[in-house]
Amino acid sequence: MKLEIKNITKKFKEKIAVNQFSMVLETGQCVGLIGPNGAGKSTLIKIIADILHTDEGEVLLDGKNISKMKREIGYLPQYPNFYEWMTAKETLFFMGQLSEISKKVLIKEVPKILAKVGLSGEENTKVRTFSGGMKQRLGIAQALLHKPAFIVMDEPVSALDPVGRREVLNLIQEIKKETTILLSTHILNDAEEICERFVIIKNGNKIEDTTMTDLISRNSKPVVCLEISQTDKFWLETVKMLPYVKSAKMTGPKVKVTLDDVIENKNKLIQNAIENKVDIIRFEIDDHETLEEIFLKLVVGA
Ligand code: ADP
Ligand code: MG
Repeated sequence: MKLEIKNITKKFKEKIAVNQFSMVLETGQCVGLIGPNGAGKSTLIKIIADILHTDEGEVLLDGKNISKMKREIGYLPQYPNFYEWMTAKETLFFMGQLSEISKKVLIKEVPKILAKVGLSGEENTKVRTFSGGMKQRLGIAQALLHKPAFIVMDEPVSALDPVGRREVLNLIQEIKKETTILLSTHILNDAEEICERFVIIKNGNKIEDTTMTDLISRNSKPVVCLEISQTDKFWLETVKMLPYVKSAKMTGPKVKVTLDDVIENKNKLIQNAIENKVDIIRFEIDDHETLEEIFLKLVVGA
């Protein structure tokens, strides 16, 4: 399977929600579409799921236009809409029939899919009583019911509490063994756990298409982190003046120092701390920024 997103542009009146966006997804990948609120994630995902039409460009699945390949795509909306008075089983029958799955197939498949998303035993429970995590798992069941080759999920965990989030992340880990996945999120940590590849979108534009290892290695910057006594805060000003220090920043009791050359200069920095009678509580070398820091730098320019 190969999904090609080619030069997609979508405007809402004057507002360009998605701008000349292209990417290719291959079988077996689990890709995170990451961007802040309003970046254009939902718009792009709706175009991929063929529920919104693009102004320019096209989406192809195995070389064919996506509207001819709808059966191969499963879609979990950002805000799934369920009838609260239906049971889990009724919901899946209802939605399955909407996507033209025969009753005979549904009788066989609904129990299987409920088991897969961990809702066996809840088939006759009304959706009204479901937790956020259960509703989201039911949404995933609905997206998988027609056995698509590829599933797109719009912010599948963003609105969940920690318990629900864990349930859904574990389920996605299972699904990804057999289905190609594109999921969006504005929380990098969610994608970090399940995706191998990250596509970052900002103001409708693709600004990165990368892997975790690449992202980290490109942003590696030798930083030394010292924890010092509150009474020794004055030392920060001395540190900033040192010739081998590029920058120094204090957050709480921690001093983050970027050095010209960590290997060569880290001992000089410790020496200086000792000379200034600074009480060092902890000393560590951070060889790269956290993904959260990298993300913020990319999308906010912080
Ligand atoms: P995200 O999902 O990344 O938060 P969206 O795709 O929902 O972003 O929105 C991208 C931009 O397009 C936003 O500025 C949003 O306000 C605008 N937008 C989305 N849908 C519509 C619409 N139906 N009408 C007008 N503007 C819209
Ligand atoms: Mg959205």
